[in-house]
Amino acid sequence: MSIYASKHFKFNEFRCPCPKCRRKKVRISSLLLSKLEMMIVIIDRGLDFHKPVTVLSGNRCEEENKRIGGFPGSEHIPAPDGEGADIKVKGISPIKLGLIAEKVGGLRIGIAKWGIHVDVKPPCPSKFWIYMERKPIYSAKIENNDLLKFYQIIKGKEGE
Ligand SMILES: [Zn+2]
Ligand SMILES: [Zn+2]
Repeated sequence: MSIYASKHFKFNEFRCPCPKCRRKKVRISSLLLSKLEMMIVIIDRGLDFHKPVTVLSGNRCEEENKRIGGFPGSEHIPAPDGEGADIKVKGISPIKLGLIAEKVGGLRIGIAKWGIHVDVKPPCPSKFWIYMERKPIYSAKIENNDLLKFYQIIKGKEGE
């Protein structure tokens, strides 16, 4: 089934991957979807083709979130709607993708090796974080207004 949740995303792309959720309704925040669509506008600007955004993880039920070692109370858990997604785009580094998400605004952004986490939860405690060996380092105490600055403090310039 290919029912679109928004212009470029299908509900199935956000489905919890566990067997229990195979037939469950996918619940994804319309605010998050609109932010993801705004990211696509920026990504595709100047291109004559659409660069697909891959959803690595959308909804997760409590069990699945626990199984993969997700943060308890994760924004991936639909309550009632999933407000977080892990995404990647081929040919765009995680920090570059993060900067695009920052440009859209209203997103919390986690930078990882595999891509980025974005969610539409208000920035508490932090707006940005960087996963170092799966453990997040939060921006709150360092720099909450400038993702690149924060990234450079944590990683130095080598990661770019
Ligand atoms: Zn599930
Ligand atoms: Zn995530």
